[in-house]
Amino acid sequence: MTVVDHGCLICSMEGAEPERVVFRDELWAAEVVPGYEVSGWFILRARRHAERMAGLSDGELSTFAFRARDLISAVTSVTGAPTTYLLMFGENYPHFHVLIAARGDDVEADRRTGDILKLRLERTDLPSSLSLVPLVKAAYERLTYGPTGAISPLEDSRN
Ligand SMILES: [Zn+2]
Repeated sequence: MTVVDHGCLICSMEGAEPERVVFRDELWAAEVVPGYEVSGWFILRARRHAERMAGLSDGELSTFAFRARDLISAVTSVTGAPTTYLLMFGENYPHFHVLIAARGDDVEADRRTGDILKLRLERTDLPSSLSLVPLVKAAYERLTYGPTGAISPLEDSRN
């Protein structure tokens, strides 16, 4: 895996501690990222330094929706959150990534939708955040690979 070293936080996740990693495959990875350690928040990222959606390859584009769907489902099933957000900006870090954030019942009305990002500073909780990783990892693997350990045939047909 080529890592571009120019202060890209998203690239730096290639060297993240295993306790932060939900999954990594050839094109995609998901982790608990420093600075976003809110319980139920995970960042899904392209493994190479592809900038914004326009920088994704056909292979990345055709697999992204599956990874996002499965990770959102895994996070929702583990947290029991009534909804799980997918947020994409690409401003501070153009390296393509999305924030997948469980929005629990305990999140006040003024911290929902776009305002949920205020929780980044208000609800940092590394132990709680990391405690979810093995559970989300197991749920993700069940959804993505199923009982046979094979990736879904639909996805294969699109590659
Ligand atoms: Zn990068």
